[in-house]
Order: sequence, then C-alpha cells, then structure tokens
Amino acid sequence: MILIVDDNQNNIYSLKKLLESKDFQVDTANSGEEALGKALKNSYALIILDVQMPGMDGFEVAETFSGYSKTKEIPIIFLSAVNTDKRFITRGYASGGIDYVTKPIDPEILLLKVKTFYHLQENNLAMKKTQQSLELEVKGRRESQVTMKSEIDHFHLLLEALPQIAFTLTKDGVINFVNNKWYQYSNSEHEFPETHPDDHIIQDEFERCRKKGQALQLETRLKNLESGEYRYHLLRMSPVYEGNNVKNWVGTFTDIDDQKKVEKEKDEFLSIASHELKTPLTSIKAYMQLLDRKLKLDNKNAESVYVAKALSQVEKLNSLISDLLDVSKIENGKLKINKKPANLENLIHNTIDIILQTNENSSVKIERHIGKIERLIPFDEIRIEQVLINFLTNAIKYSPENNHVIVTTFVDEDEVKVSVTDFGIGIPDFKQDAVFHKFYRVEESSLQFQGMGIGLYICSEIIKQHNGTIGLSSKVEEGSTFYFTLPLN
Ligand code: ADP
Repeated sequence: MILIVDDNQNNIYSLKKLLESKDFQVDTANSGEEALGKALKNSYALIILDVQMPGMDGFEVAETFSGYSKTKEIPIIFLSAVNTDKRFITRGYASGGIDYVTKPIDPEILLLKVKTFYHLQENNLAMKKTQQSLELEVKGRRESQVTMKSEIDHFHLLLEALPQIAFTLTKDGVINFVNNKWYQYSNSEHEFPETHPDDHIIQDEFERCRKKGQALQLETRLKNLESGEYRYHLLRMSPVYEGNNVKNWVGTFTDIDDQKKVEKEKDEFLSIASHELKTPLTSIKAYMQLLDRKLKLDNKNAESVYVAKALSQVEKLNSLISDLLDVSKIENGKLKINKKPANLENLIHNTIDIILQTNENSSVKIERHIGKIERLIPFDEIRIEQVLINFLTNAIKYSPENNHVIVTTFVDEDEVKVSVTDFGIGIPDFKQDAVFHKFYRVEESSLQFQGMGIGLYICSEIIKQHNGTIGLSSKVEEGSTFYFTLPLN
C-alpha cells in the first residue's frame, strides 16, 4: 500500500486517482502527525510526502520516520512546489527520502518512479522475509544440534557408568565411541580388542551380521593389555533402528571369565564323578546279574523278585551315569558319532519293542505310521536308538493320563523325519526352545516327574552331529510332538 501525505485535499485526490488507475492500493494522510500515526500502525511500501505542510513539514516527518524501526526502511518520495533549491533537495535526501519530485508533477514520470520504488521495496521486503526465515531455520538447527549433543553426551555418560566395556558404531560399522574400560583391552578406539587365536574374528562376524541388520552375540576371549591374560567375554552388538533403517550400533563386552571357570570346574567334577561311579556300578550290575540268574535257576521266587527289582534300579542308575558321562563328553568335544549305512526302519521297530518290554506292566500303546525308507542311510545306530528311547520314555513319562503314543516316519527327497507324538501334559510355548538346553526342566512338571534335564540336550547334540534337525510342537494339556530329521545322504 502507498501512503500519500499532503495538506491539500485536491492534490491528494488527483494523486490518489492517478495511482489507483494503475491498481495501486492507496491510503492518505492530511498532516505529518496523521501520517506518523498511520505509518506506525500499518505497513506501507512507499510514502509520497509533501514538503510544505502546516505543523510538521515533510522533512521533519521523514526524520521522525527514520527514528522508528518500523518506518525507517520505507522509501519516501518528496513532493515540493517551492523548494527546488539544491539546498532543500539535499535536506530531503538527508532526512531519509529516496527521491525528490518538484511540482508541477509530470504524472508519467511520477508513476514510473512510484512503480520502480514500489517494486524495489516489495523485493526488499521479500528478501527480508526470506532472510528472517533462514535465520529462524539456522537458529532451530543450532538448537536441535545442541539438544542432540546433550542427549549424546548423556548417552555416553550412561555407557561410561556401565560395568561392561561399551561402544557404539556408525551404521557403516565404524567405531565412533568407546568407554574407558575399552582401553584395558585395546590401544586404539578404532580397533576391536585382540581375541584368542582359536576364537572368532570379531570384525568378520560383525560384518556378516551388519549386512543382514541382525544382532550379534558370541563368547570370545579378549587379551588384557596389562596382564596379557585372555578372559572370556560375552559380546553383544545390536542395531539401533530409525524407522526401517539402521541408524547405528551399540555394543558391549561383558566379562564372564569367572562364570566360565566355575562352569568348567563343574563340568570337570561331573566328568570325574561319573567316571568314578561308573566302574563300581558296572561290577555291582555284573554281580546282580549273576545272582539273578542263580536265583532263577534255584527257583527261589521271593528273592529273585527282589533281585530283579534291584537290578532294574541299577539299570536306571547306570543310564543316569551314562547320560552324565555323555554330557561331559559333549563339553569336551569328545562325543563320537560312528555313522554307518543302516536300516532306520528296523531300528525304530526294535526300539519300540524295547520300550514295550520295559513297560510290560503298563497299558502303553505305541502306534506306528510308516513312511517307506527304501534304502540304507548313514547314522550311528546306538546314538539314534538313544534319541528314540529318550523321546519315547519322555512321551510315556509326561503323559500320566494317556499312554497312547504315535511314531511317524516321513521321507522326502533329502531327508527322513521321525516324530514321536504323545497326548500328555504338553509344554508352554515360551519354554519349548529351552527343553534342549543342558539341565533344563519345565518348572511346572519338575516336581511331579523325576529327571535331570539332560536327555534332550544329549539328543540335540547327537542330531546336530548327524547334520539333522531336532524340534517340537506342543500344546499344554493336549500333548507334544518331538521330531528329528536325518539327511538321506
Ligand atoms: P528329563 O525328562 O530327564 O527332565 P529331558 O532333557 O528329557 O530331561 O527333558 C527336558 C524337559 O522337557 C523335561 O524336564 C520336561 O519338562 C520337558 N519334556 C520333555 N519331553 C516332554 C514331553 N513329551 N511332554 C512334556 N514335557 C516334556
């Protein structure tokens, strides 16, 4: 909008008409004082200011405008009939005007000037607006940078307070922060600590997981820089996601060396104890068998029943100790698998017979669903029998109300799958994976049923060594199906 300031109504009228004919919006003031009031209230792109006015003259008005931040930038064109003198024109410019037009006015020239200054001012204002919004954005960015930095500092402080070695990496896998404990194991914040030559190379393992965006967890021995001693650590590296993309990685090394030592001592004790128990037990078993035979020959009925019972308990003890020995063999990597081409169908058949004989007095019913295996496949007969016996005894043991068991074989191009289904107590979903862990027993059933929680652990190790898979599906109160697979070749 343009403001015309003149004490002469006729001048205002003709100027207003002229400007409005060119689509300019126009406001008017009859005196310097009124102009000042309006200029402070409204926004004008240009002021056309008469010099000779009663009260404040044009120059005084312009000088006052230059004192207010709101008005000081508005361009002013002075209109004057009298003061054509150079002196006055100079004062006009000095008081803040940008042009000086003397009367009589040439309307075309005035319009040209108005147009030019009007557009200049508009551009000026637009530029200022852009500048202001840029300044705002810069300010906003600076503020968010400060907040981000303080958040990162806070996060680093937390990592510093952890008892573990803690570090972070960029999304590309470059280490960008390590806490102080890091330096007990590495000289450089850019390099992972040195690991035992027999352990995994951390960088390689991490790259493998990074490409898939998957967390990494592994046990490794790190070399302490001061003592030169290797200590077991649990390494965990997790991706931090922003939407669907990995933003960065956070990692920790937790010292588990003491825990590992205790575990090792326990394994050693287990190994020694089971070895030491096995030898006298084997002799007891042999003598009991001799006694059993003798009593049967002599027809001493009452005693032979006692001896047979004692013998079956010895048999149980023997199998418990054998299991403990197997566990220690697994721990030491000494569980040997002796694979030979054999007939799996015969093995399943014979194992079912053994189970039925040992459960002669109960109402166990084992149903067989046969998938035809047309050739011999390579496996360790003793060990696979051990797996099947374990599945079947568990199926019977954990089904106190229903002794119906189904053994199914399913063959496809690459593998054979053997499953044992029962209709017993079942296992809750979230505990199903754990049943293959060493010494794990489902809490709800552990008091009611005897066991050590190692049978399935040994089974999974045996199947792993056959390059097969082991698993289960189960529903509480409905029953379970345990299965294993063996590759055909
Ligand atoms: P154990 O039977 O000697 O405890 P296992 O390793 O054979 O040890 O089994 C581990 C645990 O898995 C058992 O303690 C039991 O809680 C659960 N389990 C195994 N088989 C079954 C089954 N057929 N039905 C329900 N629970 C089972």
